[in-house]
Amino acid sequence: MITKTKIWLSSPHMGGNEQNYVQEAFDTNWIAPLGPNVNAFEDAIGNYLGNSMQVAALSSGTAAIHLALELLGVTYGDDVICQSFTFSASANPITYLGARPIFVDSERETWNISPVLLEQAIKDGLANGKKPKAIIAVHLYGMPYKVEEINEIASKYDIPVIEDSAEALGSTYKNRPCSSLGTIGILSFNGNKIITTSGGGALITKDGGLKKKAVFLATQARDNAPHYEHTHIGYNYRMSNVLAGIGRGQMEVIEDRVNSRRSNFEYYKSKLARLSEIEFLDEPNDLKSNRWLSCILLPSYDIREKIRLSLLEEDIESRPLWKPMHLQPVFLDCKSFVDGTSEDLFQRGLCLPSGSNLQQEDLDRVVEIILKVITQ
Ligand SMILES: *Cc1c(COP(=O)(O)O)cnc(C)c1O
Repeated sequence: MITKTKIWLSSPHMGGNEQNYVQEAFDTNWIAPLGPNVNAFEDAIGNYLGNSMQVAALSSGTAAIHLALELLGVTYGDDVICQSFTFSASANPITYLGARPIFVDSERETWNISPVLLEQAIKDGLANGKKPKAIIAVHLYGMPYKVEEINEIASKYDIPVIEDSAEALGSTYKNRPCSSLGTIGILSFNGNKIITTSGGGALITKDGGLKKKAVFLATQARDNAPHYEHTHIGYNYRMSNVLAGIGRGQMEVIEDRVNSRRSNFEYYKSKLARLSEIEFLDEPNDLKSNRWLSCILLPSYDIREKIRLSLLEEDIESRPLWKPMHLQPVFLDCKSFVDGTSEDLFQRGLCLPSGSNLQQEDLDRVVEIILKVITQ
């Protein structure tokens, strides 16, 4: 019997140098939430993003969103607008601060926050005497949102934008890197993201002072004194110097990782797009997606499930698109501005295996099963 190996949705893909940097941390005894690897990893990300972006390496992307909200002054009782079509980690930190999420649906061209519904949500807030304190927009699956339209609305009403780029390292909007396009950007280096430190994240800003504040809050908000003195509530959110070593190695291969993910998408498209039943999301002009996950839309929920289960039978992991936040039991009492777009995408969409370490035969196995289901 030939046993085929499991195909994962998106698994870690080491470049080769990670262990050397981790060894360096051990050799120098920098086993701490600071040290040379943390500084070098931050520099590597900063250089990659260019435009003198300041980087604070943190323990997770979720922590980065939490700190970003706090740095923007979000506090108890505030309203924060959040893209509904996303992973729950985009919205959860709003509630950590005692603030309330207001969910906004997506548009069809990028699957991200709709400028029209965003403005409706802001106007509704103003009419009720409560201006939203911040906007969380997401480059979902690596596809950039409509940055110019969103920024224009945000500046018209003077509301800061947190740019959730957890899935979008390597994506660009008009040649400008995602995570450098909002008031504050965030990245994630969780195990399934385009590069990983096993767990980790970063806060990205143009403002050196803001980075300093982020690091201050992330290291228990210790005031300048020989003893431990606190005038703020702090967090333990800094990245470990051991894990930052993994990140240094990963940043050496980021361009390869983006290219592999993009070529996965192109391969699926070349084999499946001719079927009228299968839809792919193309890149609008001047937008480049890192294609973190390759997604397809099927004609119905039933066909989507048939494909998902047929893949599962062959030990191939695929996953429905994110269930929108406004449909999540935990957020059912939150206000939302929706038009059915994300609900439809959730019903019909499927993420295919997308790792940068997939082999040609893996991609072919996936394609073959989908073709069989569709054409039988
Ligand atoms: C992964 C992810 C996060 C959270 O990042 P963690 O590092 O896992 O905490 C936030 N937003 C989106 C859209 C994500 O995909």
